[in-house]
Amino acid sequence: MRRDTLTVRARHILPVEGAPIEDGCLTIQGPRIGWLGPAADRAADIDLGNVAIVPGFVNAHTHLELSSLSDEAPTIRVEDELAWLRRVIGQRRGSSDATYRVTAAENVRSSIAAGTTLLADSTTAGLSWGPISGAPIRAVVFAEVIGLRRDRGLMTDAAAWEWLKTVRPEAQVAACSRVGLSPHAPYSTSGWLYHKAVSSRFPLMTHLAEMPEELELLETREGPMRAFLEEIGAWDDEWEPIGPRPSDYVRRGELRNADWLIAHGTYIDPEDFWQFRPEAAPDNKRVAIAFCPRTHARFGHKAHPYRQLLERGAIVCLGTDSLASAETLGILDEMRFLHGRDESLSGELLLTMATLFGAWALRAETSTGSLKVGKSADLAVIDLPDRDDADPYRLLLESDRPVAATVFEGDFVVGRWMNVV
Ligand SMILES: [Zn+2]
Repeated sequence: MRRDTLTVRARHILPVEGAPIEDGCLTIQGPRIGWLGPAADRAADIDLGNVAIVPGFVNAHTHLELSSLSDEAPTIRVEDELAWLRRVIGQRRGSSDATYRVTAAENVRSSIAAGTTLLADSTTAGLSWGPISGAPIRAVVFAEVIGLRRDRGLMTDAAAWEWLKTVRPEAQVAACSRVGLSPHAPYSTSGWLYHKAVSSRFPLMTHLAEMPEELELLETREGPMRAFLEEIGAWDDEWEPIGPRPSDYVRRGELRNADWLIAHGTYIDPEDFWQFRPEAAPDNKRVAIAFCPRTHARFGHKAHPYRQLLERGAIVCLGTDSLASAETLGILDEMRFLHGRDESLSGELLLTMATLFGAWALRAETSTGSLKVGKSADLAVIDLPDRDDADPYRLLLESDRPVAATVFEGDFVVGRWMNVV
């Protein structure tokens, strides 16, 4: 049985809001954080040892129903994105709803084991809701709508709404999760589906400015993306884009009136960066960009503009995307990968992108995303290497030590110490 109050001690506590605490203690009081500070100020019930306690990670973009592609090579390599899309569509066409549910359930478990306590999942007609709502994790589950052709758009929209109507508000509260809609991408989804999604008042997610072929299609209605859509039977001769730029899909007119979570955003025109600042959104609506470093690297894209976006005040959070493009569902793996490529990005900012910024994007920052008294005790506990470093973030990032435990609402839900506390 769980104690009402439990104080744990760790080599480092990295609160995200507040300075790092070396040799710190954190008190879990019921489901919340009751206290944190130097170990000298409070006696610990358990010493977790050579670990860092950080806020539970926020995976701001994934598709839990997808598994790795069967002929997958074990290491990341540069691959043509259209060729990859063709393989993902092959996997989708060969999978039943039941397979998707089983895969989503497995992937929820591995997400939690990777220290994730909040995620944004895109799913076909709510298929991942069951596994997510029964698991110790928070989520926003976005039902995907897709189709340039009207018949396909109508079909996916009807399937999404059929599911949305079944999830009552009380069920969302009980599951610590919410529902949303995801018009898939400008190159795959007709404009009327974007407008309809905005009028729904749900939180929205879309893939945007993902590859140069998308820009060419929006500008000219021609190019390799059009040939690809024709090949898979998805092209519609009547189709007109909302505008010539990807940002038109989320920032033009009425389309700004929603919370938008944007996956990728690699090719957003720098002239449009200002539009992605929270202050530029109307009526307290939110806009944020989920950057998936390993997936981005896989397709050999130009450098992602996360730094320029952050410098202009945009919120950039981290996602893994699916196992079809990333090797794991671990946000810590994404952080370590990005740190290896860009050491000038401070560890503190990187951890903020991996936690608090994602929580903000999903409107959960008042309850989770940092270690603050009164917030939910959603924590990741990570083993640290046996060496000294003046910078605790380097101990976390320049290491391959795993997540040792995940704590959700005060409970050790996976990993070590489950039977101890
Ligand atoms: Zn995606």
